[in-house]
Amino acid sequence: MSDCLFCKIVEGAIPAKMVFDDEHCIAFRDINPQAPTHVLIVPRKHIATLNDLGDADEALVGHLHLVASRLAKAEGLTGYRTLFNTNREAGQTVFHIHLHLLGGRAFAWPPG
Ligand code: AMP
Ligand code: ZN
Repeated sequence: MSDCLFCKIVEGAIPAKMVFDDEHCIAFRDINPQAPTHVLIVPRKHIATLNDLGDADEALVGHLHLVASRLAKAEGLTGYRTLFNTNREAGQTVFHIHLHLLGGRAFAWPPG
């Protein structure tokens, strides 16, 4: 997707504070962090929203969570929050799926 911000970060055309990458995904620090640790775990494959996942993406979505748990450990987090925002009603602003990893402070429930 030539007009997708996160595809451009995947390609290296736009810089980001990278913390991890492998053949399936990259992870970088959010530019507007909402917690002391705020990392986005982004598949290399362009998928606009969770609603656009196909059967073939099942393992990929599991992998993103496994990476999140490993990065949380590396960041020294014991409690943390992971989430996908889906569509504008939920606050999605970048339409290339990304798993938010947030930690380093207490979180309220229910979320705002
Ligand atoms: P969402 O609102 O769930 O779509 O999340 C998009 C996230 O991407 C927001 O938390 C933004 O702060 C973050 N973001 C937007 N542009 C960049 C960028 N160039 N580098 C890193 N994070 C970004
Ligand atoms: Zn994309």
